[in-house]
Amino acid sequence: MYPDTENHIGEAVAFDNRFVRDLPGDPDTTNERRQVLHACWSSVSPTPVKAPRTIAVADDVASMVGFTRADIDAPEFARVFGGNAQLPGMQTYAACYGGHQFGNWAGQLGDGRAITLGETVNAGGERWELQLKGAGPTPYSRTADGRAVLRSSIREFLCSEAMFHLGVPTTRALSLVATGNLVIRDMFYDGNARLEPGAIVCRVAPSFIRFGNFEIFTVRDDLTVLERLVDFTIARDFPHITGTVPEQRAAWFREVCERTAVMIVHWMRTGFVHGVMNTDNMSILGLTIDYGPYGWLDDYDPDWTPNTTDAGGRRYRYGQQPAVAQWNLVQLANAIAPLFESTAPLQAGLDHYVAEYQQRFAQMTSAKFGFLENTADAQSIMGEAYALLQECELDYTRFFRALGDLPETLAARDDVVGLLGDISYDVARLDVHRASLDDWTRRWHASLQSPRDTHAGRRSRMHAVNPRFVLRNYIAQQAIDQAEAGDEAMIHTLLEVLRRPYDEQPGHDALMQRRPEWARNKAGSSMLSCSS
Ligand code: AMP
Ligand code: MG
Repeated sequence: MYPDTENHIGEAVAFDNRFVRDLPGDPDTTNERRQVLHACWSSVSPTPVKAPRTIAVADDVASMVGFTRADIDAPEFARVFGGNAQLPGMQTYAACYGGHQFGNWAGQLGDGRAITLGETVNAGGERWELQLKGAGPTPYSRTADGRAVLRSSIREFLCSEAMFHLGVPTTRALSLVATGNLVIRDMFYDGNARLEPGAIVCRVAPSFIRFGNFEIFTVRDDLTVLERLVDFTIARDFPHITGTVPEQRAAWFREVCERTAVMIVHWMRTGFVHGVMNTDNMSILGLTIDYGPYGWLDDYDPDWTPNTTDAGGRRYRYGQQPAVAQWNLVQLANAIAPLFESTAPLQAGLDHYVAEYQQRFAQMTSAKFGFLENTADAQSIMGEAYALLQECELDYTRFFRALGDLPETLAARDDVVGLLGDISYDVARLDVHRASLDDWTRRWHASLQSPRDTHAGRRSRMHAVNPRFVLRNYIAQQAIDQAEAGDEAMIHTLLEVLRRPYDEQPGHDALMQRRPEWARNKAGSSMLSCSS
C-alpha cells in the first residue's frame, strides 16, 4: 500500500498553521530554557525517542482528522506520533503562556512538554490542532524533562475520550505511543524516585489557547502582542462573532464565560474533579484540558479532591469548581481589560457566567433526578438527597443510575434500599440512615408520578444524563498496573466501553462496580499528585 512507507501517512491531511503564521514567534530557535518575550510561540522539534510503538489509537479521532486505517497501521504512524518523524506541512512549536497556580501568579509557564505538530483542516473544513504531550524539552521546560510517564499518559488518553463520549467538552486524544525510554519520577515528592516507562499522547483540539496565554502579555505590559492574540483568537476560534471590534471583544468574553459554565456543569453532573484548575489549565474554548491528578467522585463528597499536592487547602475540590472557574474568569477579565474602554462588558460577562451556571446547574440536577421541572418541591427533595448521599456514603454514579432503574411501583413491603444495590461505602452508616433513605426514596418516587410522564420515558431520560460507566480512579489504575506489567488489553477494553457510557453493556459489570475497599487509600486510585 505504501511503496515508500516513509512520509506517506496522512496523505489526505492538509496543514494550515495559522498560529505560527499570524502571531509573532520567538526569533531564537535554540532549544534552551529561557524567558521568551514579545512572542506567542517558539519553534522546537520533538526530541526523538528510542523505540516508538503505538499502544492505542482512538479510531474516530483518527478519521475525524483524516487518517485512514492503513495510516494507523503503518510503522510511520508511531514514528510521527512518537516524535521521531514529521509529515510535510507540519511546523512544530511550543506556546508561551503564564498562569495563576493555586491562586498565585506563577510567571512564565508555557508548553514545557507539549509540542504542537500543526493545525490540520479536514475535508469538512474542521480545524484540528495536533499536539504531542511528553515529546521532549522546550524553551518552557524550566527545571523539568519535557517527558511524560506511561501512567499519566494512559490516564490522559482514556479520560479525554471518556469525557467526550460522556458529552463533556474536552480536548480529544488521537494516540498513545510508548517511547521505549525510561523517565525518572518521584510520584509523591517524598524522596522515592523511580524509573518509569515513558509515553506520548497526541492531543487534538481546535485550539489549545489557555487563559494564561493572555495573562502573560498583560503582566509583561506587552499590549501589542496581547491585542494581536485577542484578535487572532476571535478570528480563528470564534469566527461566528461579528460586529465592531468593541462589540466582538465583548461578545467573545461573554461566550468564553458561557462555555466555561457549560463545561463546569458537565463536570458536576458526571462527578469529575479536574484537580488542577490553574489558569494555565483553562481552555479559551471551554474544553476540559490537561488531564493530570483528576478523579471521579466515588462516594459523594463535595470536599473531595484527588490531588495530594492540593491536600492542604483543597482549593480544587469538587464542590469548589464552579467558584474557581469564576475566579479564573476574573483573571482572564483582568488580563484583557486593557483592550476595553470600560469594564462594563467584562462585568456583564462575569455576571453571565453566574446566571448561566445557576440556570444550567438547576436544569442538570433536575434531569439527574428525573424531574420534568425544577419546582420548589423538587428542589427540597433534591437537597435532602445530597445530604443523604453524604450521610450514607453513597456512590455518586451508581446512586443516580439505581434511581433510574427502580421499578414503576414500590410496594410497602419492598426493601427499597436493597433495590438500590451495593452503593454504600459504609454499611454501618447506611444502617443508621436506612429508614431515612427508604423514606426519601419513596417520597421521591411518588413525587415523580405525573400524567405527563411515563416510567419508561423517565428511565431513559435519566439514563441519558446519569452514566453507567465513568473512568473510575481504581479502574484506570488497574489498566495502568497491567500495562506496566506488559498487558495492554485493558486499555483497549476501557476505550471501547467508555465510548458508550450510558449503555447497559451487560458483559462489563465489573467496570461499574464501586471502588473496592483495597483501593480506598491506594496511590493512583484515590491519591494522585502533579508528578506525571
Ligand atoms: P501542569 O501542572 O501539568 O499544568 O504543568 C504546569 C507547567 O509545568 C506547564 O507549563 C507544563 O508544561 C510544565 N510541565 C509539567 N510537567 C513538565 C515536564 N515533565 N517537563 C517540562 N515541563 C513540564
Ligand atoms: Mg498544564
